[in-house]
Amino acid sequence: MEPDGLKSEISLGMPVQYLRGVGPARAKVFAQLGVETVGDLLEYYPRDWVFMPQAVKIGRLMPNETAAIIGQVESTDYHSYRRQPMFEATISDETGIFRVVWFHGGYLRDQLRPGQVIMVSGKVALYKRRLQMTNPKFVVLDEEHSRSPEYFSGGVYPATARLGSRQIKQIIRPVLDRLDVLIEEFYDKSFLKKSNLISRKDALAWIHLPGDEKKLAQAKRRLKYDELFLMQLGLGLRRYRMKHFSEARPCEISETIDSRIRKRFPFLLTEDQNECISQIVADMGRPEPMNRLLQGDVGSGKTVVALYAALLSVANKQQAAIMAPTEILAGQHFLSIERYLKGSKVRRVLITGGLTGKKRAELLAKIAGGEIDIVVGTVALLQGDIEFRNLGLVIIDEQHKFGVEQKARLRKQTTPHCLVMTATPIPRTLAMTAFGDLDVSIIRHSPPGRGDVITRWVDKRDRSKAYEFIRERLKAKKQAYFVYPRITAVEQDSDVRAATDEWKHLSGDVFSEFKIGLLHGRMASAKKQEVMSDFRKGRLDVLVSTVVIEVGVDVPNATVMVIEGADCFGLAQLHQLRGRIGRAEAKSYCLLFAETDNDVARSRLEMMTRSNDGFEIAEHDLKLRGPGEMFSTRQHGLPDLKIANILDDFDLLAMARRDALEMVRTDPMLTKDEHKNIRRALLAKFGDSLGLADVA
Ligand code: ADP
Ligand code: MG
Repeated sequence: MEPDGLKSEISLGMPVQYLRGVGPARAKVFAQLGVETVGDLLEYYPRDWVFMPQAVKIGRLMPNETAAIIGQVESTDYHSYRRQPMFEATISDETGIFRVVWFHGGYLRDQLRPGQVIMVSGKVALYKRRLQMTNPKFVVLDEEHSRSPEYFSGGVYPATARLGSRQIKQIIRPVLDRLDVLIEEFYDKSFLKKSNLISRKDALAWIHLPGDEKKLAQAKRRLKYDELFLMQLGLGLRRYRMKHFSEARPCEISETIDSRIRKRFPFLLTEDQNECISQIVADMGRPEPMNRLLQGDVGSGKTVVALYAALLSVANKQQAAIMAPTEILAGQHFLSIERYLKGSKVRRVLITGGLTGKKRAELLAKIAGGEIDIVVGTVALLQGDIEFRNLGLVIIDEQHKFGVEQKARLRKQTTPHCLVMTATPIPRTLAMTAFGDLDVSIIRHSPPGRGDVITRWVDKRDRSKAYEFIRERLKAKKQAYFVYPRITAVEQDSDVRAATDEWKHLSGDVFSEFKIGLLHGRMASAKKQEVMSDFRKGRLDVLVSTVVIEVGVDVPNATVMVIEGADCFGLAQLHQLRGRIGRAEAKSYCLLFAETDNDVARSRLEMMTRSNDGFEIAEHDLKLRGPGEMFSTRQHGLPDLKIANILDDFDLLAMARRDALEMVRTDPMLTKDEHKNIRRALLAKFGDSLGLADVA
C-alpha cells in the first residue's frame, strides 16, 4: 500500500471505496451521504471550521496574549487546590518551560502523559511571576510528530453515527495532497483576477483545510461561484438547445388577426397585457418552441393573454390545449373562454374526468381529426391517449401543481409552443434559478376597477362582531367565502374548525336566514360543479369550503372572505385565497381567524394584513421559509446546491448568471478548447441531458 493512503491511481470518478480507510461497508455509508466518487467526496464540504492559532515558542510568550504552543509534557499532577480538583501539566520546548492547569481536569488523567507532544491554545497569564495557561484547549499530537497541528484544525463534517467527522477528515486528507493532478482550472488567469476569485485547486484545498478565516472566505466564494456558474450554464444551454434543436411551427400575425382577436374582449387590454402579448407573439412567430412563463397576481388578467395566444394559434390552423390543475379550474377556464368566444366559429371543448365511454371516444376522434381547435382540461389531458392532429400551443395554468415530469411527457409528443401561467409571484432569486430556463413575462398591474381588499386578523373576542359585519354585507346582496383548513374535525386538534361542522353551524344557526353551500375535495365532481355554479349565479350567499377554491375561481360579487385556522396555511396560499375577492369595484374584506404563539405563523398573518403585493409577499415567504423548502434544485432537474445559497449569495448568483449566459452566447456547444474543463464538469453534473455528449 502506498504511504499516502491511496490504493490505486486516483481520479475524480474513482469510487470512494478504493480510498484508504474505506471498504465496501463504509462506501455504503458514504453513499447514504450522497458520496459515491472521489469527486463527490471533494464536494462533501465541512459544515463548520475550527482554527488553531499559529504556534509560538514558549520563550516568546507574553502575558495576556492568546497564543498556542507546541511542547512536550514533562510531568503531570492531579491534586486539590483550595478544595478544587485540578490537573496540572508542565510543558517544555527548546526555549523554555511552562505550566498549564485545568480545573476539574480529572478526566485528563487518562489522556495526558509525560512524553507526549501536545498543542495547547488559550490565554497566557502571569501567576506567581510565572507564565501559565488556565483551562486551555489542547490536542495531543502524534508521538513522532508525524501529524502536524493543522491536522487537528480545519473542517467539521456533517457526520453520522457510523462515520464521524474525524474519520471523514482522515479519508479526505490524502486526496487533498493530489489536488494538483485531480483538479483542472475552469477559467483563465485574467478572468480569475478580474472576478476576484482564487484558483479552483486552492479553493478545494482551503475549504477542507483552511489556514485561516480569510482563506476560508476566499475558498467559499470561489466554490459557490463555480456551483452557481455551472447551474446557470446548464440552464442556459438547456434553453439554447430547446430553442435551436427543436422545431415548432411559426405562427403568423397580421393586423386582421390581431384586431379579430381583440374584438373578443369587452375591454381594452392593459399596458402590461399588451406587453406580454407582444412578447408571446414574437416567440410564437419563430420556428422554435416558445418556452415562456406568464406571471401575474390572481385576477391580473392572465387568462385573457393566454386566450390571445390560443386564438393566434387557431388563426394559424393549429390546435391549442389549455390545462388546469383541477377540474374546477378547467371548468372555470372553459366558462370564461365560452364567454369571450360566444358566437365565434372557434371549436372548443372541455374534457372532464366524468366523460367516458362512447362520448369520450367520439371527442378524442374529433381532436385527433383536427375538428376541435381549443381543448380545455385537466391533467387527464396529459395522460396519453389524447392525440392531437396539429397541436401548436400548450398553455399550462398553475404549473407547480403539475410535476415537471408530466410537463416533460407532454412536450415529447411534439414540440408545441409552451406558455406556463402562474399566479404565484416568483421571487427574483427563483426566477433566475428554478425557472431559469424559461423566458418570463410579467403582468404587474391589474386591470382598473378593482376595489381595495382590506385584511384584518380578528381577535376571537370579536367573532360575533365580525359575523354581524358579514351579515350586513350579505343583506346588501354581496356573497362571502368561509374557508377552512380541514374537511372534518380531527379530534386531537379540535380547536381547529372544520368545513363540514361549521357549515352545519353557520347554516343552521348563525346565518340561518341565508343560503349556504358546502364545497370540498371529497365531494363528487358533478356535485362540486353544481355548488360552484350555484354560488356563481348568486343562488348561494355563502360558500363554505376548503382550499379547493384556492385558485382561479372568479365570482366578482363575492367581497368577503373569512379564513379560519389561518395559521394552518402558508403565506402564498393565504394570498392565493384572498385573490378570490377584490375582483370588482366594491371594497372587499378578508378576515383571518387564528390563535397561535408560533412566531413564523404570526409573522405570516401580520404580513397579510400589511401587504396586498404578491411579489412582496413571495419575497417575505422565501425569507421565512428559506430556499430549501420552497426550492429544490433536484425537483427542477438541476444538481443540488451544496455550498451556495440562492438567498444569501444573490450577488454571486447574478454574476454567475451573467458570465454563464455570455459563455452560452459565444460558445453554445462549449467546443472551444479553453472551455473543455468546464464542459467536463458540466457533463459530470448534468449528465448528457444537455446534449453536450453528442459533440466530441
Ligand atoms: P387571472 O387569470 O390572471 O386570474 P383573468 O384573466 O381571469 O385573471 O382576469 C380577471 C378578471 O379581470 C376577469 O373577470 C376579466 O374579465 C377581467 N379583465 C381581464 N383583463 C381586463 C382588462 N384589460 N380590463 C378590464 N377587465 C379585465
Ligand atoms: Mg385566471
